[in-house]
Amino acid sequence: MIRETTFNFSSVKNALSKKAFNFHCPMCNENEFSIVDGFFRHNMENVLDGNFRIGKRYIPSIVTYCNNCGFMNFHALGQLGLIPKEGEV
Ligand SMILES: [Zn+2]
Repeated sequence: MIRETTFNFSSVKNALSKKAFNFHCPMCNENEFSIVDGFFRHNMENVLDGNFRIGKRYIPSIVTYCNNCGFMNFHALGQLGLIPKEGEV
């Protein structure tokens, strides 16, 4: 379970700068990216039964996008050290 967190998005830029040194877009090779001002949740399922479950299991992430072509990259907040990883809470 993830605790409620008020998030400072400038910390995202700092965390990415420490871990991701190559900011060249894989589609157009430009190097200017922006950070989306919000979280994304990738729902995870371990049963394929046709039902859609919301909020049970997910990966909280942020998105950067290429300022030239719009290519989007997803980064897991836990891996960036911005929230506790699963099992660390
Ligand atoms: Zn691009």
